Amino acid sequence: MRGSIVLFGPPGAGKGTQAEIIVEMTGKPQISTGDMLRSAVSQGSELGLEAKGYMESGLLVPDQVIIGLIEDRLRESDASNGVLFDGFPRTIPQAEALSGITEVSAVISIEVPDEDIVNRIVGRRMDPETGEIFHVSFKPPPPELENRLVQRKDDNEETVRMRLSAYHDQTKPLGDWYSNMGILTKIDGTGSIQEVSQSVAKAVRSL
Ligand code: ADP
Repeated sequence: MRGSIVLFGPPGAGKGTQAEIIVEMTGKPQISTGDMLRSAVSQGSELGLEAKGYMESGLLVPDQVIIGLIEDRLRESDASNGVLFDGFPRTIPQAEALSGITEVSAVISIEVPDEDIVNRIVGRRMDPETGEIFHVSFKPPPPELENRLVQRKDDNEETVRMRLSAYHDQTKPLGDWYSNMGILTKIDGTGSIQEVSQSVAKAVRSL
């Protein structure tokens, strides 16, 4: 498949975790706007300074900032056969801008109810050395890694509720938009990581 794939779903649905199997199966590079923004914040770049406040409050970073970031990233040579978007687009204007730059062939929506999201996000931890994501109950880290793991600043209950509300207001309508285009596949994201991976793999095989 030549075009790009979009991984869609609420915060904490497991997009980053499930991206791995799609990258393996398709060879398309993963583009995570969340990771790109976090790296800009930690470098203290102009973009990072602009994005930081929005991210820490659980709000979306303005569309123009995100669209500029994606335009630059898609100019790199590894993006020429389509990519896997993770966390982008998140608004209809972002999706409209994207459709002018590259073809989106498929959207995989990982569906998880709000009540599960909060538990997932407040228990999420990351290994800063490898980027691997763990969860204190659902994917416990090996004991030797435990004390180097970090928690994202926006992974607390109050900010999660803001992120969920941004998702419902600004992002969810985009799912209907892609569904009307006939390119959305829904996956039940409530099972174990392995179960969800199997559904994702099945969806990718049928593309
Ligand atoms: P999650 O999906 O768990 O909320 P991400 O890592 O994808 O986490 O995003 C973290 C934060 O980065 C978001 O809450 C938002 O502030 C910002 N962000 C990431 N992608 C976008 C985007 N496409 N548009 C606007 N803001 C974004």
